[in-house]
Amino acid sequence: MPDSNARIRLASPHLGEEEAAAVGRVLRSGVLTNGPENEAFGQEFADRHQAAFGVTFCTGTSALHAMLLAEGIGPGDEVIVPSVTFVATATSVCHVGATPVFADIDPRTFNLDPASVAARITPATRAVMTVHYAGQPGDLDGLARVCGAAGVPLLEDAAQAAGAEYRGRPVGTFGRSAMFSFTPAKNITTGEGGVVLTNDPDVAERLKLLRNHGQTGLYHHESLGYNWRLTEMQAAIGRVQLGKLDGILRRKQWIAEALTQRLASLPGLTTPHQVPSVRGTWALYTCLLPGIRDRVLADLLDQGVEARIYFPPVHRQPLFARRDDDTRDAAELPVTEDVAQAMLSLPVHHRLTEAEVAEIADAVTLAVGRATASPNATDQPTPADVR
Ligand SMILES: *Cc1c(COP(=O)(O)O)cnc(C)c1O
Repeated sequence: MPDSNARIRLASPHLGEEEAAAVGRVLRSGVLTNGPENEAFGQEFADRHQAAFGVTFCTGTSALHAMLLAEGIGPGDEVIVPSVTFVATATSVCHVGATPVFADIDPRTFNLDPASVAARITPATRAVMTVHYAGQPGDLDGLARVCGAAGVPLLEDAAQAAGAEYRGRPVGTFGRSAMFSFTPAKNITTGEGGVVLTNDPDVAERLKLLRNHGQTGLYHHESLGYNWRLTEMQAAIGRVQLGKLDGILRRKQWIAEALTQRLASLPGLTTPHQVPSVRGTWALYTCLLPGIRDRVLADLLDQGVEARIYFPPVHRQPLFARRDDDTRDAAELPVTEDVAQAMLSLPVHHRLTEAEVAEIADAVTLAVGRATASPNATDQPTPADVR
């Protein structure tokens, strides 16, 4: 649960007069859904990421669901995903009747490890879904090689990665299609919302049919679809927010660098690893605190600084946990298990002031100092250990 009493919050979405004016314009137009704002937002988001097509959805999760259906993935198929992600990456695979297969991650970026992906490919593998953790793209060259050799498509869960770049090119077209989310914890928001980008006109067509009841003409339904439409009010907000994206990313880059400067030499804490050839979005600022994470988290909350574990590993959720053999996960996902015990995300939203950045760093320094000074310096077993 978010700690609403915290002095410094993890997220602080900012919607102002421009967004209010855009919504007002839509309300007065009388077109509240299925209209020009959705067309424009999808296309403008696609243009920003150098993709041919952008199809809007009411949530990021429905966008993921549609993306998998548009690829023809269904029962009997396997999709390789990371476990250090929001649960929707894996549940969307279940929603289409397929099976998520968890692969291990790089210990510094928390993104899929191509070698672990390669080891999990079977004749049933129909896609690899990479997540750009914290908005920092993973080893997309390595994943493209593994996927190419196996003949399976790469898909991007780019939920946190609006505006991210890999070797100078925006994410969103490295896979056959890519999903972005606009919930309030993301860098730009429409309250709820998502978009799928693709360069394939047939995929774009299928996505539009899935979004709107498979309807090709008024009350003429060619295929099974859903109501996954984003409202015109939300799309109008999204267009304004998209215009603010680059400013938000620049500000977050400054905040993240300021935090790292203050925390880099702190013993017991590892600051987020920045890959030189990519541009991340600092959707999260995730440190590693092996052995002291839980005490540092509790101490920070006491000090009024909101911090959180983003994300408790999906393969340990009751929904997915294997009850037949507990030791298998640890053997198969050793890096994920280590990272899960040590990771902690600090506030990094774009509205933090310079004074608040200093306050966060001071609170972390104090908490880490207290945790490492205590004689019995290991955390109690976390819920993940108590199975
Ligand atoms: C936010 C998020 C999603 C889901 O998006 P919603 O818009 O909340 O449905 C999926 N994957 C990742 C990695 C996310 O961060």
